[in-house]
Amino acid sequence: MTSVTDTEEARKLKTRQNKLQKRLRREMGQAIETFNMIEEGDKVMVCLSGGKDSFVMLDILMNLQKSAPIQFELVAVNLDQKQPGFPEHVLPEYLTELGVPFHIVERDTYSVVKSVVPEGKTTCALCSRLRRGTLYGFAEQIGANKIALGHHRDDILETFFLNMFYGGKLKSMPPKLVSDDGKNMVIRPLAYAREKDIAAYAELRGFPIIPCNLCGSQENLQRQVIKEMLQGWDKTHPGRIETMFRSLCNVVPSHLADAELFDFKNLQLGYAHGIVDDEDDLPSHPKAAVQMMERIDILSL
Ligand code: SF4
Repeated sequence: MTSVTDTEEARKLKTRQNKLQKRLRREMGQAIETFNMIEEGDKVMVCLSGGKDSFVMLDILMNLQKSAPIQFELVAVNLDQKQPGFPEHVLPEYLTELGVPFHIVERDTYSVVKSVVPEGKTTCALCSRLRRGTLYGFAEQIGANKIALGHHRDDILETFFLNMFYGGKLKSMPPKLVSDDGKNMVIRPLAYAREKDIAAYAELRGFPIIPCNLCGSQENLQRQVIKEMLQGWDKTHPGRIETMFRSLCNVVPSHLADAELFDFKNLQLGYAHGIVDDEDDLPSHPKAAVQMMERIDILSL
């Protein structure tokens, strides 16, 4: 028999799920619009690994598709890489019930990785590369002109710090890019979504998640270090992650030091950088002026 407490609890969980869904929808909608990720008539191949991020991406994309002012197709694709213990029935069952067109591509990249990478070394980099290559090729085969990947805001920030700390580059995962061979357009509709929200929504929806590390490999150690650093900052300085992500969307090339990105050599007097150095230059609207002052404070730190 269902008690009043059970019903109350179920109601609370449903409200939380709806709230999270609304937020994820809004963030995905904004990302799609800002970067013009999906256009009329697109065929979007949604890469479904079985992890929480890709389940959420497919769910929210399908949700948006119902109310979108444009027509586009979604096709879910999973690459079965033949890792030992991969439960191959889970995704076909889930996708059939969902009623979305899908393909399961079978390619034994696991054996390739095992035969090439020395014992004890992390296999994820090569595994991901082979997965990407296979998926890109398959997109062409099925005539998909967009490939949707489930990376989110935290992945983008982690990659940014990885490249800065270990690669000496200010570079991350862009929300939209053309693959190296120029043949595929990759989009990341969850670019604005927080991992915390994705994880909470996936749990509430009870998606049949398949762990990636069934193969026994460890995530790249450097990425783990960055992840822990960011999680630590999130606890000690709430809001810092949001501000850091905003900074990736608000770059001022004239105030960095890349001579290829900004023409420092031919810089002339009178050039306007778009950054005020004097209170006289503040905008007249009070709210805009306060925002600008906050920016000056930060800039002069
Ligand atoms: S954990 Fe295993 S399956 Fe996942 S990316 Fe790494 S090597 Fe590939």
